[in-house]
Amino acid sequence: MSLVYIGLGSNLGDKRANLVKARDELLNIVHVEILKESIIEETEPVDYLDQPAFLNQIILIKTELNPENLLKKLKSIEKRFGRKKTIPKGPRIIDLDILLYDDLIFKSHRLTIPHPEIKNRIFILKQLVEINPSLLDPLTGNCYADFFKKRTD
Ligand code: AMP
Repeated sequence: MSLVYIGLGSNLGDKRANLVKARDELLNIVHVEILKESIIEETEPVDYLDQPAFLNQIILIKTELNPENLLKKLKSIEKRFGRKKTIPKGPRIIDLDILLYDDLIFKSHRLTIPHPEIKNRIFILKQLVEINPSLLDPLTGNCYADFFKKRTD
């Protein structure tokens, strides 16, 4: 069994309902159990600025799925929401990312773990630390709470 932090985001339609529905769809995946959930927070767009604010949440799951198979399940949820390929980092009805998968470090053309945006996005750090204040960055061995503190001091 692996512990995986999933990032959820939505900035189109009924954003809160989209996050709740995506969470329920995660629960419906065989071999996925939800252990913890961060609060849902509104965040301003980061890279592509001309779009509505996002609602974001992080959910900690326990799963037997390997990273590639988990990504396939997440992509199929995104598809069921009717998400279309549009502007990179642009508006999306739902976005599901694998942020951390145990302490795995992995890179393929489809998947980078830990997710490269973790340290660039203060709300991801904040929500990770909310769920697990002693969580460590697999790349450096440092505590995410320390990164978060440095970014907010
Ligand atoms: P996005 O625009 O966030 O949906 O991401 C686009 C692509 O990023 C996906 O189709 C994945 O193949 C790739 N990707 C790379 N690393 C990750 C990750 N850790 N979690 C989710 N998608 C990833």
